[in-house]
Order: sequence, then C-alpha cells, then structure tokens
Amino acid sequence: MLIGIPRETRPGETRVAATPETIKKLTASGKHAVIVASGAGTASSIPDAAYEAAGARIGDAREALHADLVLKVRAPVGDELASLARGSALVGLLDPFDAAGIEALARAGITGFALERLPRITRAQSMDVLSSQANIAGYKAIILAANEYGRFMPMLMTAAGTVKAARVLVLGVGVAGLQAIATAKRLGAVIEASDVRPSVKDQVESLGGKWVDVPYETDEEREIAEGVGGYARPMPPAWMQRQGAIIAERCKQMDIVVTTALIPGRAAPRLVKAETVAAMKPGAIIVDLAVEQGGNVEGAEAGRIVERNGVKIVGLTNLPALVAADASALYARNVLNFVALSLNLKSGEYAIARDDEIVQATLVCDNGQVVAQK
Ligand code: NAD
Repeated sequence: MLIGIPRETRPGETRVAATPETIKKLTASGKHAVIVASGAGTASSIPDAAYEAAGARIGDAREALHADLVLKVRAPVGDELASLARGSALVGLLDPFDAAGIEALARAGITGFALERLPRITRAQSMDVLSSQANIAGYKAIILAANEYGRFMPMLMTAAGTVKAARVLVLGVGVAGLQAIATAKRLGAVIEASDVRPSVKDQVESLGGKWVDVPYETDEEREIAEGVGGYARPMPPAWMQRQGAIIAERCKQMDIVVTTALIPGRAAPRLVKAETVAAMKPGAIIVDLAVEQGGNVEGAEAGRIVERNGVKIVGLTNLPALVAADASALYARNVLNFVALSLNLKSGEYAIARDDEIVQATLVCDNGQVVAQK
C-alpha cells in the first residue's frame, strides 16, 4: 500500500500529519511505502531530507494525495479533493460538522475518518488529537497573553520597588484551560478559573488556582452541567445570566482572561459581554480560544488582535499551528496510533478494523455515502 503525506495548503496551517519517527514505524514491516509531498514538513522544521532518511519518497502534491491511505491534518480544500483517489482512505481533522464537506468526500468515493469524533475512552487517549492540540493551544494562549501584556507575570521584589503578580482568569477548564492554568502558574501568575462542569473544581485547585463558583439553583441545571461523554452541554439561560454577572465582577480585577469554552457542534457560549470588557482595566489582555466557533468574548475577531477601551482581545486562530514542530510531533503520533488499529505495524497486514468502536465512531463517509453518527 502507498501511504501519502500531503503538504497542508490552508492558510496558516503549519502542521504535518507524519514525522520521520512515525514514518519509520509505518514502513517498518517493509510492506508499505510512504510518499511525502515536497515541503510538507518545512513549516514544522522537518526538511525533505529527514523524511527521505526515514525511508519516505519525496513527491509532488498530487502524488501524495493520490495514495491508498492519505494522512492529513485538515480536510481537503480547493483542488485537493480532485487529487484524492476513489476508494482511498483519508485520516485527519475532517470537520465532521461541515455537512457539505463530508458530502463532497463521500461523492468523491473516499473512506473518511474524522479524528474529532474519537470517543473519549481510555483506549483512544493515545489517538486523541483534540486533547493533544488543545493542550498546545492552552499553553500558547498564555504565551501570547504574556507577550501582549505590558507588565510582568510574576511578583518581583527589586531595589526599584515591588511588582505585583498578574491575575489570570481561565474560563472553560477542559484540556486547554488546564494547560493555560499550569503555564500561567509556572510564570508566577495568581489564577482563578471556572467551568460549567462541577468535577473540574478539584483539578483547578490541585494546580493552585482558585475556583470561581457559579451555583446551580435547580436539579435540571446540575444535571445539564454534568455534560455528556466528557463534553459540556448548553446551560439554561438563567444559569448563563448568573455566570455572566459573576464573571463580570471577576473580570474587573483581572489582568489576563483566557476563554476556552466549547460545546461540540454548536456556537461557543458567550461568557464575556462587551460591557464586561469595557469595565476591565486598561492594559488587560483577553485571549479567546473559541473565536472560530463564534467566540466566548463579545468583540473578539477571528485572526486578529483588537483593542477595546485599552483592553486587547487576542482572536488569533489555530494556536497549535504556532507551535508547529511539537504540534506535528504529537499529532503524527496520534495518527499513527489510530492507523495502527487497522495496520499491523510489525507484519504489515492491513484491513480497516470495521468492528472496532473507535474506527466506527470516526468513520464519516464510506462507499460513496455519508455515515450517520450513532
Ligand atoms: P472542550 O474543548 O469541549 O470545552 C472546553 C471547556 O469548556 C470544557 O471544560 C467545558 O466544560 C467548558 N464549557 C463549556 N461551556 C461552558 C460554559 N457555558 N461556561 C464555562 N465553561 C464551559 O473540552 P475538552 O478540553 O475537550 O475536555 C472536556 C473534558 O473531557 C475534560 O474533562 C477532559 O479532561 C476530558 N477528556 C477525557 C478524555 C478521556 O478520558 N479519554 C480525553 C480527553 C478529554
């Protein structure tokens, strides 16, 4: 079988779906060949020569897309789709909520695996691209905030006087939020955090953060807040209103606010209103990691840093792509572990593991048809 590693063509996409390390493992059996599009790894600091040394052949864009099994970061764009071979398999972040995109893949005769749909079970953890990339986004959010912030993060006592530690609020404490807390803590900030899921409180406190509680007033609120499958559900308007009031008060005290709240398949919940931003301290920084899903912060703009009354709102997108080399290394290992469900890396035996619940959950199109989510 020929395995293709295309160069990603979306603007700003610096990641690549395979590294020399994973290519060695994919080809170890001697039964499969890998073709890497020339320059596919350049933005992740992997030169073509490193792929060649690992046993891959360097080809052009079409050759890499026209393989039997194509490993990608993002769903095909532009003329990429036309280069994919009918009957081939495609693994990547295929954007399963983009119905038109999945339909187009189905029509092209692709067997598509969308890694966003990996179930959150222990066995799938080593393949969990959302977690590996959210971890990086949480780290980079704090680094970006520190860069924009006109003051120190840690408390300093110097001969010229004392500098106060930055106060950081993290809203939404999933994988990205936890890493944002851990990174801000390492830089010496004082941290507060909040989430809709009550189970997160202990995690925040164990990282040295203070929990900002938004109490539940009904059993219905408490039940919805538990979420499903590790993911949050939309909260009732009454709870959102109480949350908004509590957050507005906390934001007035903050130097940096990082928001990461997401609900799969829906617009991101609005957590910080324009009037809350207007009441924040001049020089404060907000980083909205949910900006591509509509934003947690009113006034955030995707791809831009905007200033509102002296408060900067960072709406840069695809933060993992700003840490390209490590993002690619982790993504490529996730992809390898997923492929290894169907490909025996030792013997080289390959058959799509259709009985495996992980493979089933990620399958979005097959035999010319869109596969409905169970
Ligand atoms: P996510 O990216 O979907 O959302 C980020 C956070 O936003 C979540 O913590 C969510 O509860 C929160 N949120 C949503 N709406 C909110 C609102 N209105 N107000 C405040 N917060 C809100 O979540 P994620 O990072 O993918 O992780 C979700 C959970 O799944 C985490 O607890 C994580 O540890 C767990 N997880 C488990 C596994 C596994 O067991 N295999 C793998 C990955 C993640």
